[in-house]
Amino acid sequence: PRGASLTDFAEKIGVDAASLVQMLFSLGEMVTATESVNDETLELLGEELNYVVQVVSPEDEDRELLESFDIEFGDDEDTDEADLVARPPVVTVMGHVDHGKTKLLDALRSANVVAGEAGGITQHIGAYQVHTEVDGDDRRITFIDTPGHEAFTAMRARGSQSSDIAVLVVAADDGVMPQTVEALNHAKAAGVPIVVAVNKIDKPEADPTKVRGQLTEYGLVPEEYGGDTMFVDVSAKSELNLDKLLEAIVLTADASLDLRADAGREAQGLVIEAHLDRGRGPVATVLVQRGTLHVGDSIVAGPAHGRVRAMLDEYGNELSEAGPSRPAMVLGLSAVPGAGQNFIVVEDDRMARQIAEKREARERAAMQAKRRVRRTLEDFMAS
Ligand code: GDP
Ligand code: MG
Repeated sequence: PRGASLTDFAEKIGVDAASLVQMLFSLGEMVTATESVNDETLELLGEELNYVVQVVSPEDEDRELLESFDIEFGDDEDTDEADLVARPPVVTVMGHVDHGKTKLLDALRSANVVAGEAGGITQHIGAYQVHTEVDGDDRRITFIDTPGHEAFTAMRARGSQSSDIAVLVVAADDGVMPQTVEALNHAKAAGVPIVVAVNKIDKPEADPTKVRGQLTEYGLVPEEYGGDTMFVDVSAKSELNLDKLLEAIVLTADASLDLRADAGREAQGLVIEAHLDRGRGPVATVLVQRGTLHVGDSIVAGPAHGRVRAMLDEYGNELSEAGPSRPAMVLGLSAVPGAGQNFIVVEDDRMARQIAEKREARERAAMQAKRRVRRTLEDFMAS
């Protein structure tokens, strides 16, 4: 990967960066773990490690694989304007540890129950949708709600854009902390608009004005100071101003994003999380990004394939179809795909199986190569 550091590279191949530094040193190259290494250095390492350094990224490789089946995973570039429909924003909640991300996601999940969805959201499926009324319209928002945000991290690592908006949670009693800055930098780098939730305002020592001042220094200027970032004071604990936060998300989406997708085509999207269920077999929560997913569709998700046997929403209700921005739990896959891997609906079961088999073979080869590299490195360190 171009511009990657030794640390990135070490992580990709599953080894310790320090041993790579040492190996390069013995080869006469002085490289620190964090500086980016050029292709020649990577190739040198590769030779030494008996490892073919891939100049193509796995993402490019997968694109080629799909292209050989005449499938394109990606945006709606060639879509007819007329086929595009509005879709809800997909939101990720980020922020410093203990500032209240989980509490806020839980509060939004339980507070936003629409009539007819009695009982509330019963299933933790890794993502959920809420409704809110803005200017008299019923608007929906999809929240990614994965423990530790593994899916988001995995998706970012794979370079796939999973969310449209980031909600940055900052505890008003603690202020801006290192992971707050990290989170806002990630969102900025991804070009994702930020809505700031100033949390824990129920606490006597809360100082929401200070948070505004601190974030202004990082370029997030509150609207009320003439900037273009919406700040909302909330309390996840007392469920205060949650509606205002939802409204700010919708308004930010309307102001800066053109969220539309072709709902008519075959579905594509991302795996949010997946696990093996004793009774139901492999279960994957997917986020539909474009198209509409139907029960009965032939699907390939990462190295898994199958036919969608059933779909469930976050209330445990059966779905017959799922359109753009909808999270859905999918049953019927042959294996458990990884968080952040993509899914695509294809012509028939045969094609799904063929693509899945090729992906699986590639994953297996990559694992073997990693193991080989680890052994070589161990030998090197021992010698
Ligand atoms: P996370 O690490 O960002 O997911 O933070 P959590 O949601 O786990 O919250 C960390 C702690 O802060 C927990 O003890 C929460 O109960 C508490 N907390 C979260 N939101 C609020 C809030 O609005 N007010 C108060 N007083 N406590 C909160
Ligand atoms: Mg948490």
